Amino acid sequence: ADAFDEECDYLFKAVLIGDSGVGKSNLLSRFAKDEFRLDSKPTIGVEFAYRNIKVGDKLIKAQIWDTAGQERFRAITSSYYRGALGALLVYDITMRSSYENVSKWLVELREFGGQDMVVVLVGNKCDLDQSREVEKEEGKGYAETEGLCFMETSALKNLNVEEVFLQMITKIYDMTR
Ligand code: GDP
Ligand code: MG
Repeated sequence: ADAFDEECDYLFKAVLIGDSGVGKSNLLSRFAKDEFRLDSKPTIGVEFAYRNIKVGDKLIKAQIWDTAGQERFRAITSSYYRGALGALLVYDITMRSSYENVSKWLVELREFGGQDMVVVLVGNKCDLDQSREVEKEEGKGYAETEGLCFMETSALKNLNVEEVFLQMITKIYDMTR
């Protein structure tokens, strides 16, 4: 059956945020459809994908929202965050500026998002280790000081993608029980 039609016990909304070009849309398409696109096509509006996940004997429908380009203009509205229980805050390990902007995204997240939202800091493109501009320990240390989970991923090589979404979803599930 289609993921949308299946009976589920919980429906969780989560959002993807972070600078343009860090790989948010490819992380989502990997997780939702196991696809990777070399040409990213930013469209205006909001897109989301669903995936059903079994945690214990419960079926969780995860609804993951993707920005579809507004982050370029820093024009994400509060409705994007409304009701979200989790967020993947993504930076690109080969683009220092995307890491430096993480603190700005956190401010926005804390302004518009819920109090106990599960936030995972994600250093994407870890397949490009030769062009690395942010050390793994640095990202991890920052996440610890801010009380976030942390993981490095590669949407291209499909490394840790499943894990990062599942970590967020299981944490949300643990919190809502
Ligand atoms: P978004 O703007 O954050 O949604 O980023 P996209 O998903 O559109 O990706 C931006 C660009 O980075 C595209 O050219 C992707 O092919 C590329 N990209 C995304 N994830 C990875 C990754 O894990 N490794 C590498 N090498 N490239 C990636
Ligand atoms: Mg995108």
